[in-house]
Amino acid sequence: MILVIDDKTENLISLKKFLELHKFPVDVASSGEEALKKILRFPYALIILDVQMPGMDGFEVAEAISGYSKTKDIPIIFLSANNTDKDFITKGYDSGGIDYITKPVDADILLLKVKTFYRLYEQTRELTEIQETLKEEIEFRKAAEDKKDEFISIASHELKTPLTSIKGYLQLLERSIENEDHALGKKYLARTQAQVEKLRYLIADLLDISKIEAGKMKFNKKIFDFEQLLDNTIDIIRQTNPEYQILKKRAEPVKAYGDEVRIEQVIINYITNAIKYSPESKEIHIESFTNEGFLHFRVKDFGIGVPKEKQHQLFQKFYRVEDSSTRFQGMGMGLYICAEILNRHHCEFGVESIEGQGSTFFFKLPLTANNY
Ligand code: ADP
Repeated sequence: MILVIDDKTENLISLKKFLELHKFPVDVASSGEEALKKILRFPYALIILDVQMPGMDGFEVAEAISGYSKTKDIPIIFLSANNTDKDFITKGYDSGGIDYITKPVDADILLLKVKTFYRLYEQTRELTEIQETLKEEIEFRKAAEDKKDEFISIASHELKTPLTSIKGYLQLLERSIENEDHALGKKYLARTQAQVEKLRYLIADLLDISKIEAGKMKFNKKIFDFEQLLDNTIDIIRQTNPEYQILKKRAEPVKAYGDEVRIEQVIINYITNAIKYSPESKEIHIESFTNEGFLHFRVKDFGIGVPKEKQHQLFQKFYRVEDSSTRFQGMGMGLYICAEILNRHHCEFGVESIEGQGSTFFFKLPLTANNY
């Protein structure tokens, strides 16, 4: 949009008509004061400014424009009554593009100048936009790179921990075999197996993440017995966490529709997190019930809880609540994988939590394919 500033209405009208005839959008102002107000509110591509105006004259307007960072680059074409104004023009305003035309205005020359400045403005605007996009892209990539570095260091640490334990247990196992102490040998073997299992889960999670990134996580959906699956899963978790009481507070025999193995993965994640993040309380409550065509599944713990402002981030990739991240091992992959699985089952899911009192992680699974 071009802003034409002139105190004479007839000049304004004829310039406006002339420029509009050549397809330029035009706005007008009949005084310097009115022009300044408009310039601060709207983004103009070019200003055509009469030098001689009562009140604020053209030079004063130009000086004011050059003082604001938002407007200082708007090109100006001065309309001056005589050639001697030229010196003032070049002196007074040097930040944006500048030119002048003497009155009476030669329409062809004015049009030529307007076209040049307008094209320049369009090009500058495009360049600025490209520059902004590039800046954002660079920042985004840098943040991703930093996150990746951080992840590699956490992942290496997480993988090294069970490996170091395995090495230690194998040495102890070797010694107990030399001493022919089979009972002790069995104990170390079981511990080695537990660490191998931990390693296996970590690697499976890493593989799942790369599958999600590549859009290659496959689902084999069918009708399955949810209660049966839940019971089996709880049994397995109880074996490795005998000190925890995992209580089914509400359960119904129910057939669900989905990928049984992946849904089991979510259940395991919810329950093992409930255990991991409840070092003081040893009770976990499980609920599964149906309501209006959906299976509701909830895991409640009485552990450390999650501060309200952090809850919405829990299902993001590699997110871990900072305050607890040094106290508990983990890589922030589990809930992200759960989110992908649940999204692909068209589930609603989330967390309700009070810091210091505990959390309830839940999902709501459509019971049949028809509910999608
Ligand atoms: P990880 O446990 O390996 O860090 P998750 O993706 O399973 O990764 O969990 C992400 C984060 O969510 C955890 O680091 C923890 O801060 C928080 N969180 C998950 N479950 C619970 C829970 N039951 N109670 C409190 N915080 C939890």
